[in-house]
Amino acid sequence: MKENGDQSPASISISILGNGGKGNPKSLYVFTDNHRYLFNCGEGTQRLANEHSMKLMKMENVFITNTNWTNCGGLPGLSMTLQNSGWNKLRVHGPSDLVELYQMTKIFGITADMNVEQHDYEKGNFRDSCMEVERIALSRFNEIGDSATKKQKVVGDVFCYLCTFHDKKGELLIQKCIELKVPRGPLLGQLKAGVDVTLPDGRKVSAKDVVGPCEKGPLLLVIDCPSFSYVKSLCDITKPWQQKFKDSNAPKVVVHFTSTLVTKTEDYQQLISSFPEETTHLFINESNYPIAHYGIYMLQYKLNLVDDTIFPNLKYLSDENEQNSEILQRFNSFRRSQFAPGQTNLSLILRPLTKLGAYFPTPRAAYKESVIEEISQIDDLEEALDEYKKACAELNMDNSFYPNVIFLGTGSACPSKYRNTSCIVVKINDKTSFMLDCGEGSFGQFYRLFGKDAENELRKLKGIFVSHHHADHHLGLIEFLKKRETLNVDPLIAILPSAVGDWLKQYDYYEKISHLYKYYCSNDFRAPNSCKSLLKQLHLNSFVTVKVPHCRDSLGIVFKTNSQPSYKIVYSGDAMPSTNLIREGHDCDLLIHEGTMDDDMKEEAIMKRHSTISQAIDVGKQMNAKITLLTHFSQRYSKIPIIPEDAQNVGIAFDNMCISLSQLPKLPLLLKPLKTLFAENYDEMIFESEKRIARKQFLRKYV
Ligand SMILES: [Zn+2]
Repeated sequence: MKENGDQSPASISISILGNGGKGNPKSLYVFTDNHRYLFNCGEGTQRLANEHSMKLMKMENVFITNTNWTNCGGLPGLSMTLQNSGWNKLRVHGPSDLVELYQMTKIFGITADMNVEQHDYEKGNFRDSCMEVERIALSRFNEIGDSATKKQKVVGDVFCYLCTFHDKKGELLIQKCIELKVPRGPLLGQLKAGVDVTLPDGRKVSAKDVVGPCEKGPLLLVIDCPSFSYVKSLCDITKPWQQKFKDSNAPKVVVHFTSTLVTKTEDYQQLISSFPEETTHLFINESNYPIAHYGIYMLQYKLNLVDDTIFPNLKYLSDENEQNSEILQRFNSFRRSQFAPGQTNLSLILRPLTKLGAYFPTPRAAYKESVIEEISQIDDLEEALDEYKKACAELNMDNSFYPNVIFLGTGSACPSKYRNTSCIVVKINDKTSFMLDCGEGSFGQFYRLFGKDAENELRKLKGIFVSHHHADHHLGLIEFLKKRETLNVDPLIAILPSAVGDWLKQYDYYEKISHLYKYYCSNDFRAPNSCKSLLKQLHLNSFVTVKVPHCRDSLGIVFKTNSQPSYKIVYSGDAMPSTNLIREGHDCDLLIHEGTMDDDMKEEAIMKRHSTISQAIDVGKQMNAKITLLTHFSQRYSKIPIIPEDAQNVGIAFDNMCISLSQLPKLPLLLKPLKTLFAENYDEMIFESEKRIARKQFLRKYV
């Protein structure tokens, strides 16, 4: 039975969140006046939603087309954010064991209070006040011999969804009501709701005479055909619908999560052409334009103007005019055809029909020009840059590139527009690199930084160390493992806390990944030279883990590169100041230390077992570190944290920062131009900090 038409949404839109382009997740956002839905949720989905102001809060239903990390890798992180904002229920749709996958994430504390349930399609379609959803399982046909007849049908684990939005009741025709002398008041409401009424004078008025025609609910079809072996099943299943679509209600939009290669097959092309012309097709796959994080591209342009070695420009940003014309061309051709460009932020409106059918993100004004225009207005920047360049020249540094430390994520907790969650790549030499932590979306960061070289850089990646089990330090690992799978390389050396090791083992039940890494429990690396063969593979002279105060399995590390000269590098992971780390890391060349909290938030830092900026600097002093490089900033300091004026031998990490060990002396010199570049933001941060201090003083004194 249909629900009350009044509940049927007055507006329905769909937007591309992650367009599946290189380094981007796949995700589609559907929203109405009162409900929000997500179809697939790859890593980085919530970061894109943040940047493009698509509100994922109060998300109620997430539909997954198949359990594969590419489609659901962003779900644990998103759930954690939802839970932290007080939203604690979520319904998932997809393969029957999806909810178990969810349960597993409880190993590392995600969704501890989240009530996740799964809709059981065996009992019937899903239905709420907006729409009814039919889940269609696809089957796979595997070749089991060379004869075409020898095919093995595998029961489907891939799902498509046919969403039928409820009809919208017709409008009450006021003029007709006036003519029939229907009095103001509740009778009008009853007529609008489709109920026939009797007027006070005894006349009967039929609702159908005073209510306009109802608006048919639009159809949205979401298809995923992950490989050629599913195409036949998809075509068989959709065949009987074609006549129905032609005769009455054709899907307004068909969203294809299918890869380009599969869409190009004859059968798939036939399927597309079997839909009526008024159906719009939207493709979310690897062929789409890769740039969606405009914020980080703009920021890197600015930083690049300060130092183009430490902050190289990101890849895939071709000439702005060329890019704009490509986007416009795609959009203009969409106006003439039924294929919409798969661009993040593209919205298609399914209701109301009177509105413009599609909104498209306005192509950005020329990035470089607008950045130059913006920063040329900043007071004292020119002087600060001249001073910096002069001071760097006087340092007379050696220009060797290796070892080189690359920051892919420098923010804490959940990713923000400018800072992704923890990930550092240490390039030991031109053949070997090693990763420290790997938060959600790290592969996207890797891809944007290395571009066409990403595959080559993946081959060089020989190992990873995860400092502790908190989700912002390892949720990006599975994607790296999967991307390395096709490269015919040795399994990745994975030095992990046991909780992360257990999680990967369990995840293997859903997707085979155990052959892609060699697990070492991080607790076994307490002694120097604990595993000589491993040191050889990683091109290190020594590698020691140090217990640090944060959570039960938190470790920092101290390692020496086997380069000439050898460098001693210390990474704190998440930690309060640690005497163990100070002792073990003494006289290091580089201390990478977390500085999550501003100095005025000492109490909060203790509560969350993190360090303040000044505490981290002090650890560096006590350690006699040549340089202390701060990272893992609270997302409150999205652009730049507050650094004490008297700080010495200190640098600040940014996403996409690449610093060779030989160039470390540049870092303290960078502080002044960076503070000048972000002066507006910096002054605001200081103002906010002063407000917090004043508030705390007041509370201490009077409350
Ligand atoms: Zn942590």
